Amino acid sequence: MSEPVSPLDLTALEAVADAAEAAAAAATNLPELATERRRWTGDDSAIAHANRSIKALPGADKAQAGRNMGAVKQRVFAAFDQARTALEAKAESERLAEETVDVTLPTDRRRPGARHPLELLQERIADVFTAMGWTIAEGPELEAEWFNFDALNFGPDHPARQMQDTFFVNPPGSGLVMRTHTSPVQARVLLDQGVPCYVAVPGKVFRTDELDATHTPVFHQVEGLAVDKHLTMAHLRGTLDHLANAMFGAGVTTRLRPSFFPFTEPSAEMDLLCFICRGKDPQCRTCGGSGWIEWGGCGMVDPNVLMACGVDPHEYQGFAFGMGIERTLMFRNGVQDMRDMVEGDVRFSMNYGVGI
Ligand SMILES: [Zn+2]
Repeated sequence: MSEPVSPLDLTALEAVADAAEAAAAAATNLPELATERRRWTGDDSAIAHANRSIKALPGADKAQAGRNMGAVKQRVFAAFDQARTALEAKAESERLAEETVDVTLPTDRRRPGARHPLELLQERIADVFTAMGWTIAEGPELEAEWFNFDALNFGPDHPARQMQDTFFVNPPGSGLVMRTHTSPVQARVLLDQGVPCYVAVPGKVFRTDELDATHTPVFHQVEGLAVDKHLTMAHLRGTLDHLANAMFGAGVTTRLRPSFFPFTEPSAEMDLLCFICRGKDPQCRTCGGSGWIEWGGCGMVDPNVLMACGVDPHEYQGFAFGMGIERTLMFRNGVQDMRDMVEGDVRFSMNYGVGI
């Protein structure tokens, strides 16, 4: 309860207004201002009491008292309204400052990765063979020269040892090479598991090629080896046709073309009829106008290889093949440049739709 003030005492009323203005200006936030406003203008305030006392005044004084009260109330309400506007603006700018996002700060949001299409394709190829009852094997990438060459019927001075541009491993004469093909796993599997055997071996191989649009020093093959009684070239052909259909779709046309490898006899290259021109465009860029695309080498396992691995070639025959996985991806998915497969740019891998 405030001190009573007469509505006729203008000096006292102005002192009240001064104090109310000071209180409004001193409030530091909106709840505090609301409390002060009730204190200076509420039912129990000096101003309200003075206002109510007007009706008890003699009629001649009422008009003057009313003018006094009007002037004072106007000052006080204006002071509180002004303070409220200022505090609301202050609260708003504080809220904006709190919610400000600094877009230059480092974030921990990383781009999702993707599985590499070569890995996916190797898995898909492995699935094709697993579905036929074959097993999947792997061998070391740093390989004994004996497995990489000798066991596969490459003589000590065989030109293929240079022809294949091998990475030999120091020191000279270490007997170790980075495997130039997945075929050494043939010998390892035969020695390890014996016959009959049906294995597929996807993996990395190494040759001293420069990286360009069609070569890379590290690439992938899938090796296949079947050794059993009564196997013929027809089984080889049927197996590769099945793989070709699984990779490129039904209706793909294949051919076997005579070739030479030390570890198969007879040997052949398997070609695919060009998907783009189907052999009808001499200017075709995909097949170079030949109408055919080389896919990989194959043949019947040379009896010398079977013997080196302790298998009797009179009782058992086998067929083997090695298909390039990069080439498969290029023809299957229209990849033009081998460097795209090597660079590791996730935007390339993302196209294959398996994010991680
Ligand atoms: Zn073509």
